[in-house]
Amino acid sequence: MPVKDLTVSGSHGLKPDRKPDRGSNFRKETSLEKPRAETPLTVRAQKVGFVSLGCPKNLVDSEVMMGLLARAGAELTRRAEDADVIVVNTCSFIESAQQESVNTILEMAAHKTGGKAKKLIVAGCLVERFREQIRKDIPEVDAVVGTGELEKILSATGVAPAPTRSDSPFVVLNSVLPSRPEGDARAAQGRFSRETWAGAIGDLPNYLYDDSTPRILATPRHMAYIKIAEGCDHPCTFCIIPQLRGQFRSRRFESVVAEAERLAQSGVREITLIGQDTTCYGEDFGLKDGLALLLGKLAAIQDLRWVRFLYAYPNKITGKLLDAIARHEKICSYMDVPLQHASASVLKRMKRGGGADVFLRSIAKMRRTVPDLTLRTSFIVGFPGETEKEFEELCDFVREAQFDWMGAFGYSDQDGADAFGLEKKISPREIERRRKHLMGIQRQISKKKKKALVGCEFDLLLEGESEETELLLEGRTAMHAPEIDGKVFVNDVPDAIDPQPGQFYRCQITEAHDYDLVARIL
Ligand code: SF4
Repeated sequence: MPVKDLTVSGSHGLKPDRKPDRGSNFRKETSLEKPRAETPLTVRAQKVGFVSLGCPKNLVDSEVMMGLLARAGAELTRRAEDADVIVVNTCSFIESAQQESVNTILEMAAHKTGGKAKKLIVAGCLVERFREQIRKDIPEVDAVVGTGELEKILSATGVAPAPTRSDSPFVVLNSVLPSRPEGDARAAQGRFSRETWAGAIGDLPNYLYDDSTPRILATPRHMAYIKIAEGCDHPCTFCIIPQLRGQFRSRRFESVVAEAERLAQSGVREITLIGQDTTCYGEDFGLKDGLALLLGKLAAIQDLRWVRFLYAYPNKITGKLLDAIARHEKICSYMDVPLQHASASVLKRMKRGGGADVFLRSIAKMRRTVPDLTLRTSFIVGFPGETEKEFEELCDFVREAQFDWMGAFGYSDQDGADAFGLEKKISPREIERRRKHLMGIQRQISKKKKKALVGCEFDLLLEGESEETELLLEGRTAMHAPEIDGKVFVNDVPDAIDPQPGQFYRCQITEAHDYDLVARIL
C-alpha cells in the first residue's frame, strides 16, 4: 500500500485510510519516520510502526513507548508494510472508540497475515477493559500492553527485555506516590473495582512517566503535550476511565518543569498540559493550587510562547488559577471545562453536581477575571432518564452561556460504569436527534462569535499547508487548542514574508465561517 493511503494528510505515520471524525476528540497519530529522539538510534534492529488512537493522553503514552523502543535500538517506521512489529495503542472511552480500536487492530492484522509484519501488539485502554477477549478473539495479536505497563512494550515487541523494578527508577518511585484522600475513600467504596471485567489484572495502572523517560514526539516540531497527571478520582457514573487509568496521581512539579524546559530548548513553542483532570494537579502531594503554581513557573520559560491546559473540573477552578491565566501573557486565555450537562437533576444522576445557575455564575467569574477568555466545553446528551424538559434546560443553558467552542456526545452505555444499571435508557435515534439539535444551537452561536472577530488582529501560529487545499495555509491563534478547535486559513501573505510552519505571525481576520476563520498575514 503506498504511504499516502496510510496517512491522513498532514500528519505522520501509519494509519488506516479513513478520515478522522472532526466532530470528536479522538485522534490517530503515529510514529515519525525521523523520530525526534534526543538519543540517537545506534542499533538498527526491528522496525516498529505505531497507530495511536484516542485522546492526547493516549498519544503521550505512544510517544513514551516509542521513546523506550528507540532508546533500546528499534527503528520506527511510518509505513505499515515496512514494519516488523505493529503496535496499536487503543482507546476504550465509549463504544464508537472501542469499535474504531477493534477495526484498526483488524486492519493492522492484515499486515501480519498477508504482509511483512511478524508481530502485532495491542496497547492502551482497550487492553485494560478487554485484555482476555482480545487475546482470545483476535489470534493475530501476539501481546497486549496495558496503560500501566508501558515498559512492557520492550519485551512485547522483542526489542529488549522490560526493565525489572530495580532497573526502573520511576516505577519504584510511582509505587510510593501519595494519593488524594478523595481517591482513597472512593477506592474503599469500590470506585476502581474491575472485578467483573474478565481478564482484568488485579493491579490498577500506577504508571506515570517522568522527565527521565525517553519520549519521541509525534506532534509537529513546534508543539508538545505534557501529561502532568494520570488517573481520576471523580465518581462520574457514565465513565470507566478511573478503572482504566487508576487513581489520580500527579507528576512531580520539578519533573514537569524540567521537561518543559527541555522541550523549549529543542524548539517547542507551545505546550499543552493534559491529564484526566489537570485542576487537581498536585493535591496528592499536598500542593494547593498546584496548577496555578505550575503555570506561573512555565510562563517564566523564555523560549515558550503559549502554554495552555485542558480538561478543568468545574468546581476546581479557583480564583488563583484564573489569576494565573490573567496575569501571565504566555498562558493562553483558554479553558476547556467539560460540564457534561446543565440540568441539576441529570448532573446529580451523573454524580457530578452543579447545575445551570452555578455554572453561569462560575462562567461569569471566569470572564470577569480573564476578559479575553476562550471557553470550551462538552456535553453528554441522552443520559439515562434525560427528559425532554431536562434536555431543554441544557439547550437554554447553551444559549445563555455562549461558549466559544462546544462538543456534544451521545450517551454511550458502558458495562462497568454505574450508569449502565440505570433504567429509562434513551433510544440511539433520540440521542442522535438531541445531539444534532444541541450542535445546531451552538453552530449559530459559533457563527455569530466568529463573525465578530472579522477585522481583529491576532498572533497566529502557522502550521503549514492546509489539510483542505494546498492553495491555503493554516494555523491557530491562542483561541484554538491543537487538534480540537476550528482552524484559521491563511489566503494572503505579503511578498516580503516567506511563511514557515512553526513560526508566529501577526494576522488579521478577514472572513468567518461557522467554525473556521480566514486571515491575512500582516
Ligand atoms: S472527571 Fe468524570 S468524566 Fe472525567 S475522567 Fe474523571 S470520572 Fe471520567
